[in-house]
Amino acid sequence: MNTAELVAADRRLLWHPFTQQQGWEDDEPPVLIERAQGTTLYDVDGRAYIDGVSSLWCNVHGHRHPVIDAAVREQLDRVAHTTMLGLSHPPAIELAQHLIEIAPPGLGRVFFSDNGSTAVEVALKMAFQWWAQQEGAGRSPGRTAFIRLRNSYHGDTLGSVSVGGIDLFHSLYRPLLFETLLAEPGDAAHLESVLAAHPDQVAAVILEPLVQGAAGMLVHPAGYLRAVRELCDRYGVLLICDEVATGLGRTGRMFACEHEGVGPDFLCLAKGLTGGYLPLAATLTTERIYQGFLGRFDQFRTFFHGHTYTGNPLACAAALATLELFEREHTLDDLAPKIQLLAGLLDELVAPMARVREVRRCGFMVGIELEGFAPGERMGHQVSLVARRRGAIIRPLGDVVVLMPPLAISAPELRRLVAITAAAIAETTAAGAAPLPAAA
Ligand SMILES: *Cc1c(COP(=O)(O)O)cnc(C)c1O
Repeated sequence: MNTAELVAADRRLLWHPFTQQQGWEDDEPPVLIERAQGTTLYDVDGRAYIDGVSSLWCNVHGHRHPVIDAAVREQLDRVAHTTMLGLSHPPAIELAQHLIEIAPPGLGRVFFSDNGSTAVEVALKMAFQWWAQQEGAGRSPGRTAFIRLRNSYHGDTLGSVSVGGIDLFHSLYRPLLFETLLAEPGDAAHLESVLAAHPDQVAAVILEPLVQGAAGMLVHPAGYLRAVRELCDRYGVLLICDEVATGLGRTGRMFACEHEGVGPDFLCLAKGLTGGYLPLAATLTTERIYQGFLGRFDQFRTFFHGHTYTGNPLACAAALATLELFEREHTLDDLAPKIQLLAGLLDELVAPMARVREVRRCGFMVGIELEGFAPGERMGHQVSLVARRRGAIIRPLGDVVVLMPPLAISAPELRRLVAITAAAIAETTAAGAAPLPAAA
């Protein structure tokens, strides 16, 4: 198929995620990515684009990294898939060992699944079942409730939607979801009031540490995560940290929890885990939780949960290589000056722009909030279309323009990415801008 035929077939056959297909069909033709190298994507017609959002927040060391490519190929020469149900395999074992070595303190067990949503489902079900299996758990009402934060995002399966807090994505499904308790993000006093109002009922608090990504890169005040951990300890509640977006170096440390010296009871990882190569997720937990599942078979304390491709060997090989590269290439050491550079560029070029309400950032996670546009103007989307013509792929969250480049991006490419973004915002907001509404 040539490009035009591919585009026509896409529009005829595919249904894209998080996409209003009516717009997709009327919009300019989709970019068809054919290959990539480093932090550059190439379309089928040979045009080059900076991968400004790491292929949906996943890519870490760049595309086609020779070390990850080789690790996947070597594994392919052994076996592509086997099962973790009743069998095991070396890449999963070695990956678990490496993860536990670098994980926040206290985490000593690894449960693999396929994606961020399943990593969260696993944590929720483990927490729930663990409490159900505690001595005296039979007394009513039991610790069965979860506290979620407003604006949280934990994935799109129904369990993870139940603990989500973005009305646009989640409210329609409420009738299908389990009941939860809602706390205000960044406000430890409010969380405490919710905990105090429900003594002995709360199983766990779930949050995205430091940054609520999908909500538009909402950054929590310093000390909040630590305060949540202390409150969970005081009220005897488990803490689930969803580091699907923040983990694997995104915030400048390997895990966001490290910034505040927090060890969660559950740590959920996915997106960057394989360097952006293959679907793989991990839910890490403590020995205390693990012990609560041990018993004779006929006590039925088994964790009855597992996905078919759980711990896929190719994905584990890619993840192992990804973790090794963090050490070999000193990724986090090299990242620190690039975070400074990014902050400086944003302060200089983007923050002062008209129509930019706020630039939020944490490490290599950036949200540029535009102001004064109606949803129907789709201004974030318009900015991304102009950026595309100028040579960068970015994807907004509503009117928040997101930058999440691969950690491996070079300083010159980073400069170019911010310059393209600033130019795209200037061009779009000047051209398409309706006058600011008189009152908000
Ligand atoms: C992306 C994301 C998820 C969901 O991951 P999927 O792989 O898309 O299921 C969960 N939690 C957070 C914080 C995320 O950013």
